Amino acid sequence: MIVSLICVMTLWPPSVYAWGDEGHQIVALIAQHYLDPEVQLRVQRLLATDASGLVPDSSMATEATWADRYRDSDRDAGALRYRQTRQWHYVDLALDAPDMDRACFAHPALPAGTPASAGPAADCVVDKIDQFEAELVDPRTSGDEQRLALQFLLHLIGDLHQPLHASDDADEGGNLKRVAARGMRAGSLHHYWDVEFVRRLGEQPQPVSQKLLARISAADIKAWQRGSTADWARESFALAQAVAYGALPAPGDRGRYRLSAGYVRDAVDAVQLQLSRAGVRLAAVLNRALR
Ligand SMILES: [Zn+2]
Repeated sequence: MIVSLICVMTLWPPSVYAWGDEGHQIVALIAQHYLDPEVQLRVQRLLATDASGLVPDSSMATEATWADRYRDSDRDAGALRYRQTRQWHYVDLALDAPDMDRACFAHPALPAGTPASAGPAADCVVDKIDQFEAELVDPRTSGDEQRLALQFLLHLIGDLHQPLHASDDADEGGNLKRVAARGMRAGSLHHYWDVEFVRRLGEQPQPVSQKLLARISAADIKAWQRGSTADWARESFALAQAVAYGALPAPGDRGRYRLSAGYVRDAVDAVQLQLSRAGVRLAAVLNRALR
C-alpha cells in the first residue's frame, strides 16, 4: 500500500500552480453541459488527435488537466516545457498594487508566424487565453495547433478563476503561507484553494458538477458571459482580496495561519462560484470559437 502510494505520488506530483485535477474536471464537465451539440463533436474530434500520452483518455474532463501534465512532463530532462509554459497558468496581480500590464510582462506580441503554443515564456494566463481563442477561431490554424489551443483553453480558463492564480502577496500566490484548518492536513494557502476547498464540495467531479449545474440560473449565465478575459482576472483578484487573503486571521506561532470555520465556509462558497463561472465561460468561448 505504502509503496503503491509512493509510486502514485511520484508519477502524479501534487501541482503547486493550479486547481487540482478535480477542479479542472469539474469546470470541463460544467462547460460540456452547455456546449452546442456540433461544437461538442468538434471538440471530441480535435481531442481524439492527442497522441501526447500525457493523459489517460481524451475526454474533455481529462484533457482539462493536460496543460499541467505537459508543463511537468520534462522537469527531469531539461525542463524546456516547464520553463516555457509555467507562467502561462497565472497572472500575478500584486495584492497591494495590482497592475495588469506588469503582471502580463507588458503583453509581449507573438512573433510573426509563431503559434501561441510556442510563444514567449514570459506571458500571463490572460494573454494566453486570448491568443489560444484567436487561434481556435482562425481557419488557417493547423490541426495540431488547434488541438493545442483547445487543450490550453480547457485548462487555463479554469486556472484564471482560482483567486490565487490571479493574485500575489509576495508569497508565490499563497505557496509560501502555511495554513491549517479543522479536519484538514496543514498545507500551503495555495494548496487549500487548489484542492482542499474543492474537496469540500465532494470527492468525485461528476456529482459535484451536477450539483453546481443545478444551481446555475439563466440569469447567472447571462451575467457571467459578459466581460473580457482581463475582467474575469480582476474578478478573481477581487475574491483573493476579499476572501483568500483578506479574510486570513493574524498568523500564529511560527507564522502559521489557523483558518476559522467561517473562513472555510466563505472559501468553499467562493470556490463553488468560481468553478461555476469558469465552466459557463469556457462553454461560451468554445461555442463562439468552434461554431
Ligand atoms: Zn495550471
